[in-house]
Amino acid sequence: MKIMVANSAGYCFGVKRAIESIDKLLEQRIGWICTYGPIIHNPQVVEHYENMGVKVANSIDDIPPGSNVIIRTHGISSKEYRLIQQKGCKVFDKTCPFVKKVQRIVMEYHQKGYTIIIVGDPQHPEVKGVNGWCEGTAIILDSVERAREIPCLEKGCVVSQTTMAYEKWENINQVLRTKIKDMVAFNTICDATYQRQKEAEDLAKRVDVMIVIGGLNSSNTKKLADLCRKHCERTYHIESKEQLPLNKLEKSDIIGITAGASTPDWIINSIVDELEKQAKGRD
Ligand code: SF4
Repeated sequence: MKIMVANSAGYCFGVKRAIESIDKLLEQRIGWICTYGPIIHNPQVVEHYENMGVKVANSIDDIPPGSNVIIRTHGISSKEYRLIQQKGCKVFDKTCPFVKKVQRIVMEYHQKGYTIIIVGDPQHPEVKGVNGWCEGTAIILDSVERAREIPCLEKGCVVSQTTMAYEKWENINQVLRTKIKDMVAFNTICDATYQRQKEAEDLAKRVDVMIVIGGLNSSNTKKLADLCRKHCERTYHIESKEQLPLNKLEKSDIIGITAGASTPDWIINSIVDELEKQAKGRD
């Protein structure tokens, strides 16, 4: 059994920055800390911080007045910033700079009178937050079929969710170009996502089994698993070493491993260690 781990597996720059910020605040013992929404889409990491006293607030009402509030990488709308500040909270804004860039583009083109189109998952917090920078007026779509259904527009500005799959973005844009007279498109898929997806696809083509590690609720990990499945039928999306499909692995298998942007190294390492142990046992 041979194990190959993608170089880009694990925390991206934005997630690292947010996690380091919580660690620093915990070290400084600055008082009540809460994150607005789970800090990352990884249940094991969220539980770790909950055990250290970091509260997850799932709504503005849920945020204790006067607390220290960490805004996660996905960002929030301008209205939510105001509401949190009105509660007398200190805000530590860890919105990823790549997401900030999308918010700025959306605000600018909304003010210029363009209809905003976000290519992304309407339920994803990043997309909901970005929509808040054009007063909730964006058309949000994540399929070619939906793109075909939109009305013809005079002026449209198209942006993407930062973790969108590149191929899907391209296909949707082709349709939108036939529907929008004056169209400006910004490919706002972040570099970290692009590299991770490309590397995962390349690896999936060369192995017998792909293990994709990350929260089952993590959008970027789910997309990685979908991409890998296109090239490697035996792709498994797991959260922890307990979920490794050991009974489905053969002695001669080459196993590829990648992980979503919100998967910590300690989870990846524990899975690699377990596979190495299995490999030794089978030799
Ligand atoms: S995936 Fe990209 S946009 Fe999202 S937090 Fe990481 S670096 Fe930022």
